[in-house]
Amino acid sequence: MKYQSFIGLEVHIHLLTKTKVFCRCRSAFGDEPNTNVCPVCMGYPGVLPALNIEAMRMGCMVAKALNCTIPERTWFERKQYFYPDMTKNYQISQFASPLGQDGFLELEGRGNSRGALDGKGIKRKVRIKECHLEEDAGKMIHTGTVSLLDYNRAGVSLLEIVTEPDMETGEEAEFFIQELRRMVRYLGVCDGNMEEGSLRADANVSINLPGRGLGRKVEIKNLNSSRFVRLGLNYEIRRQGEALDAGKTVVQETRLWNENRDETFPMRQKENAQDYRYFPEPDLPVFCPDKAFLSSVEKALVELPPERLKRIASEYALAEEQADLICEEKQGADYFENAVAEAEKKGLDKKTAAVRVANWFLSDIKHILHRDGIALRDISSFRLTPARLAGLVSMAASGRVSGKLAKQTVELVIAEDKDPEIIVKEKNWEQLAGVEEIAGVVKTVLAAESAAAEELRAIAELRAIAVTEKRRRTLTAYLVGKVLAATGGRADPKIAGEQITLLL
Ligand SMILES: [Zn+2]
Repeated sequence: MKYQSFIGLEVHIHLLTKTKVFCRCRSAFGDEPNTNVCPVCMGYPGVLPALNIEAMRMGCMVAKALNCTIPERTWFERKQYFYPDMTKNYQISQFASPLGQDGFLELEGRGNSRGALDGKGIKRKVRIKECHLEEDAGKMIHTGTVSLLDYNRAGVSLLEIVTEPDMETGEEAEFFIQELRRMVRYLGVCDGNMEEGSLRADANVSINLPGRGLGRKVEIKNLNSSRFVRLGLNYEIRRQGEALDAGKTVVQETRLWNENRDETFPMRQKENAQDYRYFPEPDLPVFCPDKAFLSSVEKALVELPPERLKRIASEYALAEEQADLICEEKQGADYFENAVAEAEKKGLDKKTAAVRVANWFLSDIKHILHRDGIALRDISSFRLTPARLAGLVSMAASGRVSGKLAKQTVELVIAEDKDPEIIVKEKNWEQLAGVEEIAGVVKTVLAAESAAAEELRAIAELRAIAVTEKRRRTLTAYLVGKVLAATGGRADPKIAGEQITLLL
């Protein structure tokens, strides 16, 4: 690579507070426009903002999870600028002492990281400059010749996370956003929905000859998916490289990503940092987090995805790729661990339980959840509870129910909201493992299928002209199939096979 690239991100996340950050209006996506508004968030003169402590707590949780320092004193400033979506002509934000400072997020390459970091175990430490709490602006909707304004979003709690320019490729930036998204969802402070705008990212990128430091910074906006972050940055790195190759200089500017043309285009030039005339917000007191507040932040923290993934892989002896899929959502990982624990209570050893639960969870269960329109994070409402899955796993492991009937049992558990043990009893689906009972069926089948039986007998007695192992297997499987059909799928296929050989 001829040039070195430097990528920094500014990620905005909507905090899941019930009300807005400085007033008591409802904070919700998709409500009737301009219904969640009041004099405070509409910026009427003379009104007073009051800090929503939940927003501060959630912001500090993210700051802690990103290894930031929470200062002893943090406060708000007014960031002055005019725009129609900003009713007061200033935004209440944080500037001099943001709630989280000097942290980092470590990205670690693993099986599913899609080439962002080459190979497992490779790490990149992305420094976090700061996390600051602010209010969101309203939303402008441009239709034809008019622009409409919806102020429902004005004043919604927004946390901005600013990284240092420590990433080099679009893939790394995409990976950073995916990791951050998973983290805030685990913390339960943001739904991470990029389409609805509850997680938005701006990127900045500069390139230079190696050893020359940062180049001229270009900002890219309008990146509303992690994929666009990757595509936009890689496009921009290429474009800037071509400009330098041609002896031109890169213009310091803000560009927009055009998702239909897969390219960036200039929005505005930025010679110097805009002067927002920040000054301390006189209507809000300085916030000094006390012991009680800090311990409430600590208490709300959870085991974060990278640690949980590693622990699950080693504790349950699973491949990292599998553990990664299990840890996709916190609720899914909780479900998995609860089901394994329940299966252990039923006498299964941990490894067997884990392998079986993981197989069910990652194939059939995910498929059914998708089919039935249940989000993974709502798995607590799923009728196949961890305890019920454990019941099924333990019946299958001990051979009490066949694999095929176990799948049918799951459908009935969901349809009838009953325990699998009850369904298997009601349906008389318990696997036949009694040798005598199966032998009786085998005799009947051998008599009815005389041609197949005769051929198999010939093979067994080495009288056949072309004795092939493959043919023997085919015939046996055919006869086992008949035994299963005769018992409604309940006969243990292994015993049936043994009996066929014995009774031939
Ligand atoms: Zn309001």
